[in-house]
Order: sequence, then C-alpha cells, then structure tokens
Amino acid sequence: MEDPVQQDMIEFLGKLVAMPSISAESDRAPDSLKTAEFIRDAYANLGFEIKIVDNAMAGKNPLIMGKLGNDASKKTLMYYSHYDVQPASYSDGWSTEPFEMTPQDDGYLYGRGTNDDKGPIVATYYAIKKLLDEGGVSSLPVNLAILYEGEEESSSGGFEDTVQQHRDFYDTIDGIMILDTSWFSDHRPSVDYGFRGMSYMAIEIRGPKKDQHSGLVGGTIREPMTDLSHIFSKLITLEGKVLVDGFYDDVLPLEAKEQALYDDIEFDLQGYKDYLGRDSLLHDDATTTLMNMWRNPALSIHGIEGAFYGPGGKTVVPGKVIGKVSMRLVPNQDPVKIAELFTKYVEKVFAEMKSPNELIVHTHGTGDWWYGQIDNFLFESAKTAIEDYWDMTPNYARSGGSIPIIPFMEKLFSAPAIGMGTGQSSDGAHSQNERIRVKNLVGAKEVLYRIMKLIGN
Ligand SMILES: [Zn+2]
Repeated sequence: MEDPVQQDMIEFLGKLVAMPSISAESDRAPDSLKTAEFIRDAYANLGFEIKIVDNAMAGKNPLIMGKLGNDASKKTLMYYSHYDVQPASYSDGWSTEPFEMTPQDDGYLYGRGTNDDKGPIVATYYAIKKLLDEGGVSSLPVNLAILYEGEEESSSGGFEDTVQQHRDFYDTIDGIMILDTSWFSDHRPSVDYGFRGMSYMAIEIRGPKKDQHSGLVGGTIREPMTDLSHIFSKLITLEGKVLVDGFYDDVLPLEAKEQALYDDIEFDLQGYKDYLGRDSLLHDDATTTLMNMWRNPALSIHGIEGAFYGPGGKTVVPGKVIGKVSMRLVPNQDPVKIAELFTKYVEKVFAEMKSPNELIVHTHGTGDWWYGQIDNFLFESAKTAIEDYWDMTPNYARSGGSIPIIPFMEKLFSAPAIGMGTGQSSDGAHSQNERIRVKNLVGAKEVLYRIMKLIGN
C-alpha cells in the first residue's frame, strides 16, 4: 500500500520539476514566474498570506514571501529555499528527460531540481500541511515565515536588497531554516553549521601598450607574465600555507568542543580520492582534510585573463595580464580586511621586484562566512528530531563553499540559522541525473514536522 501523502508529495514535486525555472537562462523567466505562482498558490491554499515580490535587481526572478500565524507566545520559524534550478538538457548525458520527473525502481525520483532545491520545498510544504491537518492555524506550534528566491543558482542576484526593502512584511523571526543542502554522506542525515566566506581578487599587470611578439621583445623588456608568475609564486607555499602577511591572524583557534565533532563524522576519504582521481592529498588523514576543507582558510589561483591559453605554440607576449585569485575565509576573518591585506602584500612583493610595469590590485567581490552555534534551540531540536525519525545522530557538517545570504539573513532578522540536509551526497545536485530518494523526501518532511513540534514545546 502506497502512502497517499507520499503519492501527493511525488505528484507535487513532479509538477515543479516540469517547470524549467533556470535562472541562468533569461528566456526561462516565464517558467520561473510560473513556478513562483504555483508555489504561492499552494501555500495560499494552506492559509498563508503570501505574495510574489519583484526582485530589486532588474531582470532577475522574483522572490516569494509568506507568513502564517502571529501568536506572540510562539516562536517564529522562517524557511529559506530557492525555486530556480541549474540548466539541464537530455543531450548533456541524462538518462531521462531532466524536466520530466521519472521515478525509478531504485527508489529515486530523477529530474532537475529534485534535490536542489524543489524537493526541500515540497518536504517543507507537507511538514506544515501535516501540522495544519492536525488542528489548524491556532494549534500550530510555531508561527511560520516563507522566503523563497529564484536566483540562487545565479549568485542570488538582488536578494539582499529585495529582502531588506521588504523586511517589514515579517514580524520577529526567531530561527531560520536553510533548506538547500544535502546530507554529507549517503547514509547519515546531516545538519550544516558553517560555510566559508570569500575574497576574490584580481592582480593586473600592465606592460607594453599592446600585445607583442617574443621575436621582437623577448630579452628586451620585463614581461607582464613574468611579473605575474613571480607574484603567484609568493602567494602560497607548495604545502598550502598562505603567505599573505596577517592572513591567519583572526582565524578562530580549534576548541575541544569543535574537535569532538570531527571525531564523530562519517567521511569517506577514499571516496573523496576516487572522486578526484588522485590518491595523494596535501594531508593524508580524514580529519585534517576535512578541517582544511571546512574550518581553515585557503587560497586558490584560478586563471589569467589576457594570457595565451589555446593549443599549440603561439609566441605572443601579452601586454596586459590579470591574475584571478580567491581566498576561502573562515571565522573570524573579515573578507574586506583580508582583501586589503592581500592588496598590501602584493604591492609589497611587486615593489621588491623593481618592475617597470604597472600593478593594479582589484577586489572582484567579497562574501561573509557563516558559523552556526550548534547548541542553540534549532540544532538541539534538529538533533532530537533526526534521532527520533532516523534512529541516527546527525553528521555535523560544514561546507568549504560559500552562501553569503545566510549571514546576511542572520544579521537582518537577528536570528540564528541552521542548514537541514534533505537529499544524499550522491544525488548529483548540479550534474546529470539529479535525483532524490523518496525515503529522503518523506524523511525530511517528518523531521521538519518534529522540529516544529519540539520548538513549540
Ligand atoms: Zn541549491
């Protein structure tokens, strides 16, 4: 016997997947709007006061803002997700049509957005519906707020300005549930308590006023690429230590409480190596690797604008090159301060090089890190709910990536956030054959339902 609610959830998700709300493709804007309207109408049917709000940034998809219940004696829980998806087409190597959700015998539903992030929207909706079915709005254990965006896969363009402008739509918010991550492993539910921040820098070296030929200038001028390569070599050691003066000064030292989390994490180091196709990492044990991915800062060199990169040999000497470097940052590094330290350091290195060329260091962008407090009421109730439903303690996971809107929301609403993983790590959120296990979809609904009840108690 199929569970009828489970059938409803699958049907709801299938309808959402069928709307290709791809934020990276502007001609999909009507599909995105249709998706937003569909979600708005569904929540309105639950009794939500809910509206579609124009994005403050021109040409960007709208946001959905909703609320239900205003009992001052209850806490208010906000749910964040995004209704836009990554691009996909059958010809990319999908086994099924990405925008026709296909249930398979393996217990998974295949389709773009099933994991990221339409599945989590469906799980949230049915968790709330289950509570309402039990006794209506007055019996809800918490007041509810919905904040869904349609540009997450395109750097959340316009999100901060739009939410700031409409802050007054919401009353007090006590906790923010981020439903936009997967379990860190395939077998154990995860809660997320941190993301790294970022400073993205550009190092511009200007030499001769246009590109030259090495037959003409090789041996006669100081080449911009030579300068840039030298600067690159001074940024980081081969062992991964960042050489920028003061870079590590504000990094929070590891506390015993945090160390203990790493002792109890399910992490498949060999699987990580297999994924990379490399057997040797900078550090060979799982804990150090995880810490370097999550809680330590790092510097990466990404590319050189203006340099020759095609196949074959070309003897061009670029007149101007721009090196692209990013730094993933952790508590309590300030991304703006790090950008300044980086600029000062590169200027110092360049001065020592006594180059006749011109150096300009730009900050391409910065984003805050997020660090959740795992002993607050959100994490406590999530742990209890996961233990109750899954009979497992959660993996406490961080991510080496960056979602700057989480610290933004925490500050704007003066409320803590938690990341609740929905699908599994192997679901392929941004790649071909994205999927979610039906068991995870239903499990997420049940865990969210329990969390709301626990918070209301
Ligand atoms: Zn996502």
